[in-house]
Amino acid sequence: MAAERFTALEAVGHNSSDVIAVLNHGGFVVYGNPVALRFFELSAEQGVGSNALALIHPDDRERVVQSFLGLMEQPGGSIRESLRVVTPSGLEKDLDLVATNSFDNPAIGGVLINGQDVTQRNRDQVELASLAERFRVAFAENMAPMTFTDLEDRIIDVNDAMCEMVGYSRDELVGRDSTTFTYAEDVGITEESHRRALAGTAHQTRYVKRYRRKDGRVITVEVSRATAIGPDGHPQYFVFSERDVTEERKMTAELSKRALHDPLTGLANRSLFEDRLDQAHARARRRGGFGAVLLIDLDDFKGVNDTYGHVIGDELLAAIADRLRRVARATDTLCRFGGDEFLVLVEEMSNADEARVIAERILEEMVAPFSLRGTTFVQRASVGVAVFDPSAEDVSTLVQSADIALYEAKRQGRGRVVVFTPSMHQEAVSRFTLAQDLSRALERNEMSMAFQPIIDLANGAIVGYESLMRWRHPERGAVSPDVFIPLAEQSNLIYDLGAFALRAAAEAMTELPRTDGYPPYVTVNLSARQFHDRNLPRLVGSALRHHDVAPHRLLLEITESVALEDIAGSLEIIEELTALGVGIALDDFGTGFSSLSYLVQLRPRAIKIDQSFVRPAAPSPQSDAILELIILLGRKLGVMMIAEGIETPTQFNRLRGVNCRYGQGFLWSEAVSLDKVDDLVQRLHREPPVDHNRRRPGRHSPSR
Ligand code: C2E
Ligand code: MG
Ligand code: MG
Repeated sequence: MAAERFTALEAVGHNSSDVIAVLNHGGFVVYGNPVALRFFELSAEQGVGSNALALIHPDDRERVVQSFLGLMEQPGGSIRESLRVVTPSGLEKDLDLVATNSFDNPAIGGVLINGQDVTQRNRDQVELASLAERFRVAFAENMAPMTFTDLEDRIIDVNDAMCEMVGYSRDELVGRDSTTFTYAEDVGITEESHRRALAGTAHQTRYVKRYRRKDGRVITVEVSRATAIGPDGHPQYFVFSERDVTEERKMTAELSKRALHDPLTGLANRSLFEDRLDQAHARARRRGGFGAVLLIDLDDFKGVNDTYGHVIGDELLAAIADRLRRVARATDTLCRFGGDEFLVLVEEMSNADEARVIAERILEEMVAPFSLRGTTFVQRASVGVAVFDPSAEDVSTLVQSADIALYEAKRQGRGRVVVFTPSMHQEAVSRFTLAQDLSRALERNEMSMAFQPIIDLANGAIVGYESLMRWRHPERGAVSPDVFIPLAEQSNLIYDLGAFALRAAAEAMTELPRTDGYPPYVTVNLSARQFHDRNLPRLVGSALRHHDVAPHRLLLEITESVALEDIAGSLEIIEELTALGVGIALDDFGTGFSSLSYLVQLRPRAIKIDQSFVRPAAPSPQSDAILELIILLGRKLGVMMIAEGIETPTQFNRLRGVNCRYGQGFLWSEAVSLDKVDDLVQRLHREPPVDHNRRRPGRHSPSR
């Protein structure tokens, strides 16, 4: 009876974790231990008597049946098999078994199967194999350089990409540490990361350091180190993934340099400057000390560009940047602010006055002429300074303040340093609103011309009139041309005003009363930009033609400094104007530094001696001598000499004493509107302010 036969086997099988079964000749199960029944998903009742071979996976069945049949032939023999089983519920399981022909053994009487369920083990193995493959691909085949190091940071393994990056072979690296290829100064970076990784403060660190390749080339590498943690929770080894960032860094450095610097001069650009200014401000607030922004503007740089071309202009800007570098200290920031404007940020000054000293040093540095491509020129500059102290709340308006101070510097006559004061801001604001008003003044009929008589000092006759512009502001009343002309010069408004003055003067020439039968001449003042305007001769010509007045009756007043700015250009313009028949008068003579030979070249028809000679602050024999010489010079050159600003009989007598022929001034009249000229002529005739004792009729025309 089967039950008796298996008593011993049952005792063993019951407690075994192996699959234990006995099969008969036909492959039917005659005994199965609990593990076997569970493995094959058989109940105790159906288990015995079921066909074990039917449970074998179809792919394995033929092979296993063959060896089973073979086993039948060899009593006591045994076979080993690895096979797959498909359980009644459809699960696929792996079974490793030893089958023994035990028909001879009365306690068994069949084929004894002793097997192990290796499903899980096999799956694990597959998993492991794919993991290993995955690792192989991730490590060995990775394009990114990778390294494994042990707890002492000695290299366990490197991949090909790593070898390629540092130029060493795998054999040269394994067993060593990264100092082999680390740039000497950067060894500390690796040590620090190792220390932190070991201490467990960082499971992942990332750093940038330099390597020295085997061929000596230095590269910059971004390294990330990860710590592999063992089952005990402690670090086991380290994994490095690296990236050569040399080129990338070079490019970003170049880009950021380009983004932050002016390519022409290499100086900081605006955005870098603003950044540095903010930092300087923060530092000043923390540590005290003064800082300043210096805004430097080149005087008439446009002239250089126009005359010599942009190549020389650019070279000049670069040369100026070099001079600024000579003055600047290491802590200063130099910036090209735009066209011909430069900014200097000065930091850590012990007092506010230092800024002025530095600004003056910059101007001194500019004094020496520049020599470029065989051309030598002098380039002057003006500087506006704005200072901040530790209590400054805000520095964002500092450049603007420096700009206001710069405006003031130029207004005072260029080549100067002016330090910003708060009152300047107020002035700037009112200047701005005034400029707004001025732009509408012409269309609102607020502009007019007034005429001041020019007198023949020998007989008191009116020989001409200087036309002077007047602006009646609706709220402020009369605004001085000394205020609004410079304002108009800053925009194209000056051209409109200039055209207006020419038209009004030409029109007045048709109405001004004659003196002793001679029509008077009229002078019109020209500012710098008007004079250099290519349109000027056309404008003058058309104004004269429109009112049909003789060109020789018009004199255009320019100051020496205006004519001096660009000698060659000035001569050309004057040529064109004289071709029209119009004359030139040199205004404010004596205030500039005209050379005599230059004066002769300009061939002015009149010279107007500046009021400072007529009404000297402190009259002296020397000033008399100079005045006398100027007048003598004019006579020799055949130029009309007109003294400006004669206010008193004493001044009149002094000028008569030095043989000055013509004059104008409040002694006779201020400038009056055209409709008051007749009254003025009457009054001067009735009651001349001085006795022109040597009264005699003469020619009053300015023509030579
Ligand atoms: P400027 O051409 O030298 O004109 C002489 C200035 O001296 C005038 O001032 C005139 O009113 C003033 N003046 C005349 N006689 C005396 C005197 O005896 N004593 C004193 N203290 N001053 C006297 P104004 O009209 O205020 O003009 C100032 C400047 O504005 C002018 O100086 C000229 O440079 C400019 N300007 C005036 N009108 C025009 C214009 O139509 N166009 C341009 N571009 N500039 C003009
Ligand atoms: Mg004048
Ligand atoms: Mg003058």
